[in-house]
Amino acid sequence: MLEIENLHVSIAGKKILNGLTLTVEDGQVAAIMGPNGSGKSTLSYVVAGRADYEVEQGSIRLDGIDLLRKSAAERAALGLFLVFQYPLEIPGVATMTFLKAAINAQRRARGESDLPIPDFMKQVRAAAQKLDISQDMLKRPVNVGFSGGEKKRMEILQMALLEPRFAILDEMDSGLDIDALKTCAEGVNALRGKDRGLLVITHYQRLLDFISPDIVHVMSRGKIVKSGGPELALALEASGYAEYAEGAAA
Ligand code: ADP
Ligand code: MG
Ligand code: MG
Repeated sequence: MLEIENLHVSIAGKKILNGLTLTVEDGQVAAIMGPNGSGKSTLSYVVAGRADYEVEQGSIRLDGIDLLRKSAAERAALGLFLVFQYPLEIPGVATMTFLKAAINAQRRARGESDLPIPDFMKQVRAAAQKLDISQDMLKRPVNVGFSGGEKKRMEILQMALLEPRFAILDEMDSGLDIDALKTCAEGVNALRGKDRGLLVITHYQRLLDFISPDIVHVMSRGKIVKSGGPELALALEASGYAEYAEGAAA
């Protein structure tokens, strides 16, 4: 479903993705592990459609559709969702208002009518409860003053409500303590399914104890350099990234 082929990307004249090729099948949970600076966040931003990146070569397809010809909003409407490593704060916009706007934007893009308010309230309450998100948090401005764990749970709440076709989770574990990590991982695992692809990006193996991947890819210097089963993550945990580091023989 997600097919990335020979992707070359630079920003401000600096080459970051260097011929990256990756396919994530229907229903698959794929992990990308890699050292800091290998281009993991860049990959997630480019797939989601953030501006300022120069795509020099290559293609990104979701269900056969060429994403590089679509805006970020159009990609979201196609069912693509990105969980940010550093979620943005939106002062002045209540979380409930934001969630309603996000859901209805997606529905309108699909030619559907807005979700009736009572249905919206019911869905949000049920999803928030599973993620230990209080009614009080939902009334506050999006992410403003939220702890790292609260911000991540809010991202997972958005994902649960939007039911994306394909989600990319960029270092979901960064800044999370073990309890928050478990809660977020349960939220993600609840979304696993044969019609959804998940790409879980992480620096540490620990996250994959809670979200067990079908396949593990190692990224180094802007491309996938190795792929294997979950045992690859454990091997990396033991050996570290030294053999994939800058300057190491490939
Ligand atoms: P990772 O998420 O794997 O840690 P990133 O995608 O964040 O890696 O960054 C990859 C490389 O690209 C790093 O060397 C980083 O400094 C560089 N980089 C990322 N964004 C920019 C930018 N806006 N301008 C210049 N260099 C950038
Ligand atoms: Mg990083
Ligand atoms: Mg990153």
